[in-house]
Amino acid sequence: MSERTQAPRGTFDVLPDEEPAREAIVREAQRILGSAGYRRIETPIFEATELFARSVGEATDIVRKEMYTFDDGGGRSVTLRPEGTAPVCRAYVEHGMHKLAQPVKLWYLGPFFRREAPQKGRYREFFQVGAEALGSDDPAVDAELILLLADLLDAIGASARLRLSSLGTPDTRAAYRERLTAYLREHEDELSPDVRERIDLNPLRAFDASDRGTQRVMARAPRLFDALNDDDREHFEAVTAMLDDADLRWELDPSLVRGLDYYTRTVFEFESPELGAQSGVGGGGRYDGLVEKLGGPPTPGCGWAAGIERMLLAAAAQPTPVDGVDLFVAFAKPHYRREAMRIANEVRQAGLHAQLELAGRSLKGQLKQADRIGARYVAILGDEGAQLKDMESGEQHEVEVGALPAAVLRQRPGG
Ligand code: AMP
Repeated sequence: MSERTQAPRGTFDVLPDEEPAREAIVREAQRILGSAGYRRIETPIFEATELFARSVGEATDIVRKEMYTFDDGGGRSVTLRPEGTAPVCRAYVEHGMHKLAQPVKLWYLGPFFRREAPQKGRYREFFQVGAEALGSDDPAVDAELILLLADLLDAIGASARLRLSSLGTPDTRAAYRERLTAYLREHEDELSPDVRERIDLNPLRAFDASDRGTQRVMARAPRLFDALNDDDREHFEAVTAMLDDADLRWELDPSLVRGLDYYTRTVFEFESPELGAQSGVGGGGRYDGLVEKLGGPPTPGCGWAAGIERMLLAAAAQPTPVDGVDLFVAFAKPHYRREAMRIANEVRQAGLHAQLELAGRSLKGQLKQADRIGARYVAILGDEGAQLKDMESGEQHEVEVGALPAAVLRQRPGG
């Protein structure tokens, strides 16, 4: 035997037994977002590298060290998408969606890629469901998006706490950044080397640092939230008023910094106690300058993304109904295989779930297999015609081969 090739570190297979729970989450997302007028969009798995450099930000961890970037063979640099907002904004610009009625409400689902250190809940290929609303700066957009994510988490049985803040406008942020940089310089020798190195590049990330020294300094650092202008403060209060109206509990967290540069005003994150170190289940915020930065007209936007794997970890284990097998077609001699295939096809075309013997088992073995897969009925083809066996009662009677689909349909509850 040759040496086994394994899946790359940080990736995973989703086995058939694991699919139903994931599908249930996707179904809920589709139902909840669809009921609010969000329509699905799909964008490519890889994009021009500069899309992420320009949007997510050159100084972010994602762009600096987590992207899978390669030459496409023709001298162009492409990147496996690390997030979904920039691609959706690119598509909005590319397809002139500013001409549609605003806001344009979109949702997406698919794989994303980041070269992070793998651990529980953190993978290098993971799946996200996301929602974006482009073309309106109304605080109702922010509130609606947050409520939809809360509904989704609720529907899948994931309890999560909502942290919320506002980052204000780019001007407020620029002024604040200077103050924060000065403050960090004053306390330089108490900071971790990593944070110290990046004081000028990305001072906000210091709030995310995990070492005690930096955390002590950051606890007394000036807060962006306290520097917001009146318009931003008003916008934030309008959002939270609507969350209160919906009885959604939230906590103000002025230290909330997200790992992407494009956010303005509202930022939020849902955290689950079930998750340990990687506690974020889903999060997002407003990104009013992003579309313009990508070459489109000035267009406000807001959105979120939630990881399917993290949602699964956070969700209460729910029994997923197994897909019932209506009919197993067994046959006494190989000679009847073609007939069995024909019957199975016909029964499937009538909308039922049918399987037939595919492994050359003896008749006894076939009945055992039918039992194992939970078949409700078994058709047994033999020299004396066809028998239909009810696997619940054990009763068996003769049926015309041509009448099998009808017989199975008739026997079903509601048939
Ligand atoms: P972010 O764009 O970083 O805010 O990520 C949004 C959501 O995607 C997070 O709340 C997680 O649920 C999920 N996510 C982000 N990175 C990973 C990862 N490396 N592995 C698994 N899920 C992730």
